[in-house]
Amino acid sequence: MRTPPFMPLSMPSTAYRGRFAPSPTGPLHLGSLVAALVSYLDAKTQNGVWLVRIEDLDPPREQPGAADAILRSLEAHGLHWDETVRYQSQRSEAYIAALDQLAAADQLFWCHCSRKDLADSAVYPGHCRAHRQPRPDAAIRWQVPNTIERYADRYQGEQLIDLAAELGDVVLRRRDGPFAYQLAVTVDDLDQGITDVVRGIDLLDSTPWQRALFRTLGANPPNYAHFPVVVGDNGQKLSKQNHAPALDDANADQNLQQALQLLGLTLDGEPPETLLQTALAHWPNISLQRRKTLTPDQ
Ligand code: GLU
Ligand code: ZN
Repeated sequence: MRTPPFMPLSMPSTAYRGRFAPSPTGPLHLGSLVAALVSYLDAKTQNGVWLVRIEDLDPPREQPGAADAILRSLEAHGLHWDETVRYQSQRSEAYIAALDQLAAADQLFWCHCSRKDLADSAVYPGHCRAHRQPRPDAAIRWQVPNTIERYADRYQGEQLIDLAAELGDVVLRRRDGPFAYQLAVTVDDLDQGITDVVRGIDLLDSTPWQRALFRTLGANPPNYAHFPVVVGDNGQKLSKQNHAPALDDANADQNLQQALQLLGLTLDGEPPETLLQTALAHWPNISLQRRKTLTPDQ
């Protein structure tokens, strides 16, 4: 019998492609460092490629200089990305092409409902479904297929959602112009060949839309893994909205240790790259299964 060819362990896998996709609404804080770290460690333990994509779709919510500050912070923390950083602000053509494809399949409609019109509806009630042609001053909505989205989240386990009944028709382009997150994230995850989406559990509810959109655009959805959200002492998610402080890049070692501690890894102070190597060796033993929160005092 012939032995299979020798494959060195360090050979990058051609299979796994992951990403960290921050919106540049402010500098990196502990919560977003954990997000970067989990996606990085998951990719690198599988010899995968790890990409960074700046999701700058909504200029009014962005902070000037935040994208550069995030990239500088990632470098300072030893989180070096593969391939060129992608900016969603430069991807309009691809988003328009995807909308054209959906329009050609008669799956879009133009919705002029106000916030007030929809205030009492958890799921879009279908008012504007008859408006199948572009009209000014309207959002573009996707009439979602009538499917049950069933998949196994790598961290949160079995998920089962009736897309039309529980989530409903979703906005893909806002009335005031910006492309919506659900459209842009799906088009780019597809285009960049992402195999594993690893992100916070606050985005779990978006996943069925994205999975369905993948298939509608002619591709198989990637694997998903939603990790527990980091909550501060007040029990609230660490986020810019909740005034999580910006990380000081000069304290990269301590920041990384703190982030790793939240993930259950207590490691000693070393330069970031060494700390990350040590973390990688321990990562396969860390379980984020079915955990909803990560707290500093666990
Ligand atoms: N840009 C999104 C955010 O910062 C994350 C997108 C994603 O990971 O799918 O919340
Ligand atoms: Zn409407």
